[in-house]
Amino acid sequence: MPVLSHLHQLFNADQCQAYIRTLRWKERPLQCPRCQSHHIGQWGTYQYRPGCKRYWCHSCKRTFNDLTATLLHRSQRPLSYWILATFLLCLACSSRRIARELGIHIRTSYRWCWWLRNAAVSYEMHRQLAGTVEADDLYQTAGNKGQAKQGGKKALGHRPRGRRKQRAPGRGHYDKDRPALIAWVSRQGTVVIQATKDCTVQTVQTAADLAGRAGSRLYTDSASSYRAVKGSVHEFVKHTQKAYARGDGHENRAACLFSLLKPYLRVCRGVSKCNLPGYSGFFPFLRNFRQHKAFEQAALILQAALDPAIARRARRGECVACFDHLNLLQTARN
Ligand SMILES: [Zn+2]
Repeated sequence: MPVLSHLHQLFNADQCQAYIRTLRWKERPLQCPRCQSHHIGQWGTYQYRPGCKRYWCHSCKRTFNDLTATLLHRSQRPLSYWILATFLLCLACSSRRIARELGIHIRTSYRWCWWLRNAAVSYEMHRQLAGTVEADDLYQTAGNKGQAKQGGKKALGHRPRGRRKQRAPGRGHYDKDRPALIAWVSRQGTVVIQATKDCTVQTVQTAADLAGRAGSRLYTDSASSYRAVKGSVHEFVKHTQKAYARGDGHENRAACLFSLLKPYLRVCRGVSKCNLPGYSGFFPFLRNFRQHKAFEQAALILQAALDPAIARRARRGECVACFDHLNLLQTARN
C-alpha cells in the first residue's frame, strides 16, 4: 500500500491527543462537564487510548476525560480522523470526498460533516455588520434531494428531480424549488448570508435587522424589497438602466460573493432545500476567517466542537436553526 494512501496513518496518536487536550481546555477552566464543579483531581489514563487523561470530580463523584460531552465523545475512530476530516472540510471538500480520503463510511463522514459545520456556525450566529454594507439576493435551485414529499426516505424508482430544468422567469420561491439567499457584505470584508423562503419586503426587513446594526449605510440594487428597508441610510443602483456603480454606491462585492458561493455549493452536487441553510451558513465562516490557513480554521472548528454546550446543539442541528426567524427558511434536518 502506498504510504500516502491514507494520510491519518502518519499521525501520531499521542500528539493528536495532546493537541485535542490543549484545544479542549484552551480559554476554558478545567471543570466537570456534568456539574460544572472546579474541584477536580487526576484519575489515571487509558490503556487502549494512549495520552487520554481521566479526571475525578469531587462534587458529583464521577470521572470524565478530555472528550466527555464533546462532539468527539464516544467516537469509534481515532482523533487523527477527526482532525483530518475538519481540515478537509475547511478546504470545502464534499462529505463523499472526505469519506474516500479517510477510508470511512459515507454515512459516518456525512454525519461528521454536519456536526462540524454546525459547530462552525456557532462563530457566525450573532455576527452583525456595521459601517457600509452591500446586499444582494440569489435564487438557488434546490429541491427535495433525498426526501419524499411527505418526509422520510424516498422510495426507489422515483422520478429524477430535474436539477437542470428550465427555470420559470422572475423571482424564485421555496415552493418553486428556488429559495432565496440574501448576502450582506460589509466594506470591511465580513459577510452574512441568510437562507430565506422568498425575498419579499417583510423577509428582507427581518433579514436586515438580523444582519446589520441600525444606522449603517446600505447599498443595494433597485429591487422594491430593498427600497422598503428601514433603519439605515440607503442608496441603490438601477441595473435595469445598465447602471452598476454610482461613485461609491455599488453592490459588486455582494455579487462577487455569489460567484464564490456558487462553486462552493456545486461541490455538494445538488443541495436539498432543507439543507441549504446549513451549507450556506458554513460558507460565511470560511469567508470571515479567510485570512487563516485551513489548519487554523480547523482548529477553530475543533475548539467549538470541544465545547459541551456547542456540541450538544451541533448534534441536534440547532446552531443552524438560528437562521429560522419568522418566514426565514425552516430547517427540517436533525
Ligand atoms: Zn461533577
